Amino acid sequence: MLIPMLSVSAQEMKVAGPDGKLQVTVSNHWGGVYYSVDYNGKTMLEHSPLGMQTNIGDFTKDLSVTSHVTRPIEKTYRQDRIKASEIHYQANELIFTVENASKQKMYITFRVSNNDIAFRYTLERIGETGSVVVKDEATAFSFPEQTTTFLTPQSDAMIGWKRTKPSYEEEYVADAPMTRISHYGHGFTFPCLFKIGDDGWVLLSETDVDSRYCGSRLSDVKEGSVYKLEFPMPEENNGNGTVEPAFALPGSTPWRTITVGETLKPIVETTVMWDVVEPRYEPSCDYRMGRGTWSWILWQDGSINYDDQVKYIDLAAAMGYEYVLVDNWWDTNIGYERMEQLVKHAQSKGVDVFLWHSSSGYWNDIEQGPVHLMDNPIQRKKQMKWLQKLGVKGVKIDFFGGDKQETMRLYEAILSDANEYGLMVIFHGCTLPRGWERMYPNYVGSEAVLASENLIFGQHACDMEAYNATLHPFIRNTVGCMEFGGVFLNKRMNRGNDGGTTRRTTDVFQLATAVLFQNPIQNFALAPNNLQDAPQVCLDFMKEVPTEWDEVRYIDGYPGKYVVLARRHGEKWYVAAVNAGKETLKLNADLSFLGEKVVSWYADDKNLQPQMQEKKLKAGKPTQLVIAPQGGIVLVTE
Ligand code: CA
Repeated sequence: MLIPMLSVSAQEMKVAGPDGKLQVTVSNHWGGVYYSVDYNGKTMLEHSPLGMQTNIGDFTKDLSVTSHVTRPIEKTYRQDRIKASEIHYQANELIFTVENASKQKMYITFRVSNNDIAFRYTLERIGETGSVVVKDEATAFSFPEQTTTFLTPQSDAMIGWKRTKPSYEEEYVADAPMTRISHYGHGFTFPCLFKIGDDGWVLLSETDVDSRYCGSRLSDVKEGSVYKLEFPMPEENNGNGTVEPAFALPGSTPWRTITVGETLKPIVETTVMWDVVEPRYEPSCDYRMGRGTWSWILWQDGSINYDDQVKYIDLAAAMGYEYVLVDNWWDTNIGYERMEQLVKHAQSKGVDVFLWHSSSGYWNDIEQGPVHLMDNPIQRKKQMKWLQKLGVKGVKIDFFGGDKQETMRLYEAILSDANEYGLMVIFHGCTLPRGWERMYPNYVGSEAVLASENLIFGQHACDMEAYNATLHPFIRNTVGCMEFGGVFLNKRMNRGNDGGTTRRTTDVFQLATAVLFQNPIQNFALAPNNLQDAPQVCLDFMKEVPTEWDEVRYIDGYPGKYVVLARRHGEKWYVAAVNAGKETLKLNADLSFLGEKVVSWYADDKNLQPQMQEKKLKAGKPTQLVIAPQGGIVLVTE
């Protein structure tokens, strides 16, 4: 006899987004609680388990739903440092109570907007018990069978440079079957993109992660189509610290987010990471975003000396940039006293300074200085006080330990202390930011990507540069700012522009990445020689390009192949397109939202040299874009 899945003792609740297309169905049967997701009547996630196992009660089995409420949510907020500046969030919220066999209660909240779902678990105090350790989450995502994946693996812990991994610096595989096991066998890091055959796209991530939880990831596939939420690996942080997060009661887990679309538009334009979180503190001063130069990217460790830094300060001044970033070893190679002099010199040129620090600590073998200043509050505050006295505006902190709760505590402590001393913070060798632009007003960037340094380290990254650039706007960079450190106008990736690895992409491709990649402070990879040897049209563009945006629009693309998107800064629109293919790409782009505007049209000519022409867009007609292989196009409205 067949047992119908949902009939016997099943209890079903549904909640849909305001336009009714995105729908979550929650069911309670056979002692479990499950959810599924539909968009426009098409299944995007099948029957997927909810719940968690804790040290005070098991909320994964013998569960019954005892009550539920729904309510609409609406808020408008302004936000700097992300892809949009004014955001109107509308959702329907379902909160339901589940009880386990011991009559202990857990609350599950779903917020469903037109293309985004956020959900989390909440526990109250249970009698005398005022804290909880979460042993494991049942949370999982079960995909329809036609699904393919766009994922990057979690690394082994304590491998790589000075045993600094994992650090979200692994390669993506596009359009892989769900049966593909991750490279290291530890599953995949957020965000995770899935293509549901011809039905649409799903992006999974999480937000609201602070000192009260760990960063999570996805398991390798189970039962052919199920990805389970996993906590950090015990080996992370040199084996120190627990993998099981703990929080005080009442308290909640982070929000897990599911962005759903029939096209990639909602994936590129989502703001759910910031919609469901609140600022943790007020900014202590007016933080100024902008552009910077940094010698380390092309000239490497040998350039961290006074004279070379002056050359990069002069470059920043010549470009009209706000910042220079002085990277590792400044403490010994320049020294604390001369640093005072260097900062004064930079300020005299109208350039402010970011200074590199290591985060460590006992969690790796880093020698590059300064070390052991950011890992404990006593040294950290002393150092930050000195930085503030010098007039340094920010720190870049590198080489974190992993995703355990103790590392999340360190990120939050650094951000909070830095705000006390008027310092902005960029993280490198680090985890994915999870809602942090909204939570922390002095947070201005994270690497958490195979960033520009890899183009120097090996030819493979140069060969893959265009491919990777077409992934980030759909995956890594859509959920949080990405400190990539790119835009090279050197053809060869060394100090003399005459050796090292060879750039495969065109100059206009490089300009396009200044718009495609979003980070509120961009340290560009320009070099002093570019003032003489780079095409003037590129330098003029790089002097003008902003790093703060009011709006983003997906226009066209496919992760791993090509991308066309538009960003607005004030009244000005920037349309950026790049092609990862080996053939010229011809597209008819719908730019009707621009009307009949005159644009500066940057493109590669027949010899792949950069050209700029003024053109008038025709209203009511698609705009033809012809993009060279590993080339790009940028259009800028007047
Ligand atoms: Ca790195």
